[in-house]
Amino acid sequence: MSDSMLQRLLSWIDAAPSPYHAANNAANDLVDSGFDRSNPDDAWSDSDRMVVSWGGAVIAAAFSTKIDPDQLRFRLVGAHTDSPNLRIKPNPDLSHAGYQQLGVEVYGGVLLNSWLDRDLGISGRVVVGDSTAYETHLVQVDKPLLRVAQLAIHLDRDVNEGLKLDRQSHIVPIWGLGDAEKGAFRSFLAAEVGVDDFDILSWDIMCHDLTPSSPLGRNEEFYAAPRIDNLASCHAALEALRETEAVANNTISAVVLFDHEEIGSESSTGARGPMLSHALERLAATRGVSREQFLRALSRSSCISADGAHAVHPNYVDRHEPEHQVALNGGPVIKLNANVRYATDAESSALFQSACRSAGVPFQQYAHRSNLLCGSTIGPITAAQLGMSVVDVGSPQLSMHSAREMAGASDPAYLTASLKAFLGDT
Ligand code: ZN
Repeated sequence: MSDSMLQRLLSWIDAAPSPYHAANNAANDLVDSGFDRSNPDDAWSDSDRMVVSWGGAVIAAAFSTKIDPDQLRFRLVGAHTDSPNLRIKPNPDLSHAGYQQLGVEVYGGVLLNSWLDRDLGISGRVVVGDSTAYETHLVQVDKPLLRVAQLAIHLDRDVNEGLKLDRQSHIVPIWGLGDAEKGAFRSFLAAEVGVDDFDILSWDIMCHDLTPSSPLGRNEEFYAAPRIDNLASCHAALEALRETEAVANNTISAVVLFDHEEIGSESSTGARGPMLSHALERLAATRGVSREQFLRALSRSSCISADGAHAVHPNYVDRHEPEHQVALNGGPVIKLNANVRYATDAESSALFQSACRSAGVPFQQYAHRSNLLCGSTIGPITAAQLGMSVVDVGSPQLSMHSAREMAGASDPAYLTASLKAFLGDT
C-alpha cells in the first residue's frame, strides 16, 4: 500500500509546481471521489462532502450524517500549498552581455544555492482578457527554459569557503541569446495559452526544477522531490479525507490548504486572513447552526497543523537537540516550542498521540535547539484566529526549502493513516 501511495505522492507533486495547480488538482481529485464543488461566492450546498477553492487555497469537508447544532465540533487538518521559489517580475525582459534573461523575485525562505545549475520550467496562472471581461488560465511549461548558471570555480576561487549570492544580481535566469525584446516573456506566455500578446493582462508565474520526483537510496528507503514542504502534508491530508468513510456524530471533518505560508500567511488565502473562519461558519450554516452555536462549536474543536519537520542530519548532528533527533521513516513528528512557534500543548499532543495509537503508527517528538531561532507554521496562527486547540505535526525531511528536498519513503503512509484516524474519529 505504501508503495502505491508514494507513487501517487510523487506524481501529485510533479503535477503541482505552483500553489494554483496544487489547489486546482486537489479540488478536481476530490470531485472525482464524489465531493460536490461549490464556488466561494455561491450559496453552498448541504452535500455531505464538499470542496471549495480560492486561487492557491482549498477547503474540503466531510459531514457526519447527524449534526445537533448544540453539539457540533470541527476536526481540521491544515497545511500549505506554497513553497519557496523564484517568481517572474511584471516586466521581466532583461539583457546583459548578449544574453536574454528574466527578472525574478525570491519568494519565501529559499536556499538560493539549490536553484543554481538546474533546468527550470515555469508554471502558475495567467489572466487573459480585455476591458470588458477576463479569465484565469493555469499554465505549466515542463520543458527546460531557464537556468541560473553558477560562476565557474576558476572565476571564484574562494567559493568553497562560503558562497555569497546577491538576490538581485546573481539570481537572474538566462533564457536566450541576443538583446532583450520588450514583451518577449508576454509573447511566450501568449503562445502557451493560445491567445494574442495583448490579451495577456497579468500573471503569477514561478520557476520549478524539472527533475522528476523519484524514490532514492540503496533500498529506496527515501524519496527526492521538490516542494515536499508542504505538498507531502497536503497530499496526506487529502488522501485521509477522501478515505474517511464515516465521520463521528456531530462532526464536520475538514481539510484546509492555505497559500502564502512561506511569506507569513498574511493574504486573502493565507492563514492570517478570514478565509477559514468564514468557511467554517458557512459550512456550519448549511446544517442550520447559528453564530452563537458556531462559536461554541469552535471551543470543542481541534486542528492538526501538518508541515515539514527537521529530521536529524548526519553531517550536522550538533544542530539538533540531543534527545529530539527525529528519524526518517520514524513516523509523524509532534513539534513543540515553549514560545509557541508551534501551537502544540500537552492536550493537543495527547490528542494526536491517541490518533497515532489507534492507527498503529509510530510518532516522534521534536524540539528545536534553544540557541537557534525556531521556524513557525500555520499552527499558532490558526489557534489565534479560531481560539481552537491545535497540534503541530509533520513528516520528517532533510533539505527543507531546497529546490529539491528529501524524505523517508514510509512516512507518507504513516502521516496519512494518523490523519485519517483523527478525521474519522469514532
Ligand atoms: Zn512548510
